[in-house]
Amino acid sequence: MSAGIETTKREELVSTNPATGEEVGRVAITSSEEVREALERSRRAFEIWQRTPFSQRKRIVMRARRVILEEMDSIAKTISEEMGKPIAEAHSTEIAPVLDLMQYFAKRTEKMLRPEKRPIGLLGLMGRHSRIVYKPVGVVGIIPAWNFPFSIPLGEVVMAIMAGNSVVLKPSELTPLTGNKIAEVFEIAQLPKDVLQIVHGAGETGAALVESGPDKIMFTGSVATGKKIAAAAAENLTSVVLELGGKDPMIVFDDADLDKASSAAVWGAFTNAGQACASVERLYVHKKVADSFTRMVVEKTKKLRVGDGREESTDIGAMSSERQAAIVDDHIESFHQDGAKILTGGNRKKGLLFEPTVIDGADNSMRAMKEETFGPTLPIAEFENEDEAIDLANDTEFGLTASVWTKDISKGKRVAEKILAGSVMVNEVVYTHGIGQTPWGGFKNSGYGRTHGKEGLMELVVPQHVHVNRFTITPDIWWFGYSKNAIETFKEMSRTFSSGSIIKTIPFLPRMYKRLRELMKK
Ligand code: NDP
Repeated sequence: MSAGIETTKREELVSTNPATGEEVGRVAITSSEEVREALERSRRAFEIWQRTPFSQRKRIVMRARRVILEEMDSIAKTISEEMGKPIAEAHSTEIAPVLDLMQYFAKRTEKMLRPEKRPIGLLGLMGRHSRIVYKPVGVVGIIPAWNFPFSIPLGEVVMAIMAGNSVVLKPSELTPLTGNKIAEVFEIAQLPKDVLQIVHGAGETGAALVESGPDKIMFTGSVATGKKIAAAAAENLTSVVLELGGKDPMIVFDDADLDKASSAAVWGAFTNAGQACASVERLYVHKKVADSFTRMVVEKTKKLRVGDGREESTDIGAMSSERQAAIVDDHIESFHQDGAKILTGGNRKKGLLFEPTVIDGADNSMRAMKEETFGPTLPIAEFENEDEAIDLANDTEFGLTASVWTKDISKGKRVAEKILAGSVMVNEVVYTHGIGQTPWGGFKNSGYGRTHGKEGLMELVVPQHVHVNRFTITPDIWWFGYSKNAIETFKEMSRTFSSGSIIKTIPFLPRMYKRLRELMKK
């Protein structure tokens, strides 16, 4: 199979449903040696794939898109079973947005990567021109987290292959079958062999992929792992895009539509059981409306239905792992110890099913307001004025997304631009990862580099500058044959030519001519 790996070692990863503990399926673990072999195959596949026309790449991606549309129920079921998220969210936050990304990059990549002529100022008047050509980077290693196991890696795969790269993808050990779904879709779409390969395993397999020396690594995960990957990638000078954690603030001003803002806060904090990098993890509400707003949030939270993600009416599915649920337990206890008040929730219902939890009286000095929770908690703090709200929002090591709620759009935009985060939404929460056309990525410890948008596509190519001099009769005045006259010429060049102005450069022409004569005599 083009997308899979023939394994000889029979160690297996067992994928289980976090809501029930039942086995969903199993896959063979890829050994480090097999990861290296996959990389070599990927390099060979790249040599051919990079020369395929955009029209062919587009045909394959659009075919893969049709396969997803046909298979969407079975894909959503696998996502929900492995990861725990409600089936509704598997459709709304994974499949629908990535289908939009697929059509966008299938149709637009060629145009975005079209070679471009770059104006070079006065040098352009001397018979020279510059053209920028975008070349694929080569082999892209993709290492995603488990929380959006379909849309995040698939979006990156699509952008990478549309740009002419080959890909080796290591899904999270918690979601290997969803990773295989991505491979199957492209296999049915007849992507040539080895342009996309999947390797399976836990952190060691990811580390083996980094060590094997791909040309680019697209990593999504925690700050701690991101640092390890950046350090290991440096050994091969592999460039890395790091999409890391968040502690995203939501600011609700007193002129906001409180009904909408409270619904958004509840969805923003609890979608995917709070396991979204862009989840609302800190809510700052203006003192004047804090009581009524908090009351609305609590009422709406109490109505949420927690259960098995496969049930159509489930709002909040199981958390993905005991490790993640233990962090939520710890943070709730920490809020409690620090004097904040749990207004609703606070407990596990059963196993990894966690009650959505609203916490009042939080403030930035509390540990759980600093560390990423990545679970269904919504801590609420108050502010008195705009500057204070901005300071509170920025008082964090992270900077992934933020959200500002006000009916005054100019105030919203003013505040948005003062918040240090990769995406800031006015009267919206969380969802901008679903907009494939715009760059996605963080400030500060939320990472560097971008996925999505033209900026994300540029991460997957290298710009090559092709410079041509059509005027080859004379030597360049800066070539060897240095002299007092040469130095005077260069000084004059700094004063005139380097200004970029034709008018200022006219007096330089006689000196240039003198220098040329000097050079041509030698
Ligand atoms: P981890 O950092 O634990 O793991 C991320 C991926 O890296 C997994 O595939 C993991 O494999 C792999 N991995 C682990 N150790 C290594 C290693 N030494 N070398 C190479 N690969 C390794 O993160 P989580 O999966 O727990 O994801 C949660 C985090 O992801 C949160 O912090 C969240 O905010 C962040 N995130 C960020 C997003 C963004 O766009 N900024 C989007 C989504 C999540 P395995 O799982 O098999 O151990």
